[in-house]
Amino acid sequence: MLLINCPWCGPRDDAEFHYGGEAHILRPANPSALSDEEFAEYLFLQQNPRGLHLERWCHSDGCRRWFNMVRDTATNRILEVYPMGELPSSQSGLAAWRNNWRRNSAAERNARNRVE
Ligand SMILES: [Zn+2]
Repeated sequence: MLLINCPWCGPRDDAEFHYGGEAHILRPANPSALSDEEFAEYLFLQQNPRGLHLERWCHSDGCRRWFNMVRDTATNRILEVYPMGELPSSQSGLAAWRNNWRRNSAAERNARNRVE
């Protein structure tokens, strides 16, 4: 059992939550500028690390609000919980965000209006 600290409700059993996949995936602003391979990379490839993973969670049986979490997939230890739209505040969480292959993907450059 995991004890998840909902930012609004406090610590609750993980049975009250639903996992929402990888956090910080930006939708391309102009998808037609991407090749089929680049769009497929955006759409289908996910991080699957042994170690720190940035995830979206919803307190579905509670306040029904979404939030992000930094979790170590090897130990299930939760390093931090933080609001959607923000970056992790811990150095290790921020490093996990920075070192994600997605930061250099064509889809994310497109989302940030840096289409090449
Ligand atoms: Zn809640």
